[in-house]
Amino acid sequence: MSLPKLATVWLDGCSGCHMSLLDVDERLLEITALADLVYSPLVDNKVYPDDVDVVFVEGAVSTDEDLARVQMVRARSRILVAFGDCAVTTNVPGMRNTLGGQAGEPLYQRAYVDNVTFVPGVALVMPSERLPHHLPKTLAVHKVVDVDVFLPGCPPSADIIFDTLLALLQGRPPVAATHARFGK
Ligand code: SF4
Repeated sequence: MSLPKLATVWLDGCSGCHMSLLDVDERLLEITALADLVYSPLVDNKVYPDDVDVVFVEGAVSTDEDLARVQMVRARSRILVAFGDCAVTTNVPGMRNTLGGQAGEPLYQRAYVDNVTFVPGVALVMPSERLPHHLPKTLAVHKVVDVDVFLPGCPPSADIIFDTLLALLQGRPPVAATHARFGK
């Protein structure tokens, strides 16, 4: 019998949540005995497969690309976990929302020119190539797709990640996380 499919996805986050996942250390062997890791920044697969059983989504939704990815992931996954504070609340990426909906060049002007403080009077060069197309606001994952489990923390601890993974793969409601679907 084939194992459940597990995936992790990295949107607009710092990868700290994935680093905390790696801190699960040798207990990852218990997870890989229960599931196949079919897609993740931690493995080489480039295509998100169909019928994923559990996916952890790190990061907020900041760009057109993030939005398209998380919608695709939602359509192909059974249980979607908002993984960490950036996914749950927007957290650090959401700080740009205080700029009143600036996106594109005004946002880069603010980040790379106006806010430069470490070399007084010298602005950094603004990026000009291969720029992402930002949404007017950075959004939490549940604002654009249905979320089944909310796992807050910046990052969530390795113990909580492990407990949540184990519970979901064993078909139990996770204890430490807030579950939108399992609790109903
Ligand atoms: Fe990084 Fe914290 Fe966001 Fe996770 S929740 S991606 S650790 S800033």
